[in-house]
Amino acid sequence: MLSVEDAGERILAAFSELPAEQAPILQALGRTLAEDIVATFPIPPLANSAMDGYAVRVEDTRGASPESPRRLRIVSNLAAGYVSEASVQPGDAIRIMTGAPVPAGTEAVIQVELTEREADDVLLHAEIAPGRNIREAGEDVQEGQTVLRRGTRIRPAEVGVLASLGMDSVRCISRPRVGILATGDELLEPGEPLAPGKIYNANAYSTAAQVLEAGGEPVHLGIARDTRESLGAKIREAIERGVDMLVSSGGVSVGDFDLVKDMLAAEGEIDFWQVNMKPGKPLAFGHLGGAPMIGLPGNPVSSMISFELFGRPAIHKMLGRPPTPRPQVSACMEDFYRKTDSRRHYIRVRVREENGEHRARLTGEQGSGILTSLTRANGHAVIPEESPDVRPGDYVTVWLLD
Ligand code: AMP
Ligand code: MG
Repeated sequence: MLSVEDAGERILAAFSELPAEQAPILQALGRTLAEDIVATFPIPPLANSAMDGYAVRVEDTRGASPESPRRLRIVSNLAAGYVSEASVQPGDAIRIMTGAPVPAGTEAVIQVELTEREADDVLLHAEIAPGRNIREAGEDVQEGQTVLRRGTRIRPAEVGVLASLGMDSVRCISRPRVGILATGDELLEPGEPLAPGKIYNANAYSTAAQVLEAGGEPVHLGIARDTRESLGAKIREAIERGVDMLVSSGGVSVGDFDLVKDMLAAEGEIDFWQVNMKPGKPLAFGHLGGAPMIGLPGNPVSSMISFELFGRPAIHKMLGRPPTPRPQVSACMEDFYRKTDSRRHYIRVRVREENGEHRARLTGEQGSGILTSLTRANGHAVIPEESPDVRPGDYVTVWLLD
């Protein structure tokens, strides 16, 4: 039996960073920058006003107060987006809006709240220091500056910076396309009427959601029936669609084992593994049509936990991201959990903070088919292989999922 670590390492070794492509900046979200971004102009391009107010000379504000305001003549009005032809002369003020480039001669901007308007004059109620409320050209980014480095993960702020540099597309690592295949005669697609003996295909959707969350793009391949013909056709379709990774569910436990194994072996190289974990244990891994394939177990919770352990890191590696394990906390368990075997258990818990410490409760039945107990959980407590029963008051390591 393989340890979780050994299985994880073997799987990860089969993946590499995908090639880069040019993508619209919004589609680059969550992906890895594949070029250094160097500014070809400063941001802001021109010195501009940080406030709505009046562009003035500092000397003209000397001694101003609410009791003895200074009076200036308003010579023009300047909105954001326009450059002033007039300059600020002694005794003059130019009405200016936030973001408008400051006119020549401006020494400071006095915010409108400290002024009072009288027809074509403005009364200043305060002195103002040189440079006040002026944003300098290049204050954020200087021309020639490397603003973002290759390898950076593109988050909303990076998207904004790219846009502010005038870029509508960027070179980034391709988004992994992940083929998702469910297997089983018992499966119906959501939306179809329920029929005797049937269940809905939950795994294809939970896996697709996990793929999306990890930054990949799910490619639905539908359901393969438990026949050579159906399975063979789906496997060939998966290969033809040229995915970067293939994830199947079901057909790795004893019942359908031989069929799936035979079919996969005929079209590629697949190993069937036993991983020392619970839920989960049966897992298939190999290559199909050149793409790595992970065969997840069919039980919905096993499928999700196995994807979390083995699929998510693979997607991150293809995306060119460093390993991004979930945040971990040590939590005090409040429930009893019986552990009778020497597998590593991942149990569904709800963690909360109380008096500066984390406390965890089981979220209900821990069977590998009880998906609703995962909806109530915000973490997986990891119970080591050699651990005895967990008793209330014992500390456990929990990975936080949200
Ligand atoms: P298997 O490994 O194919 O024997 O499946 C193990 C269990 O998981 C069986 O109870 C299946 O009905 C169930 N199962 C398999 N695939 C899915 C799926 N896509 N959605 C929900 N349950 C599934
Ligand atoms: Mg099956």
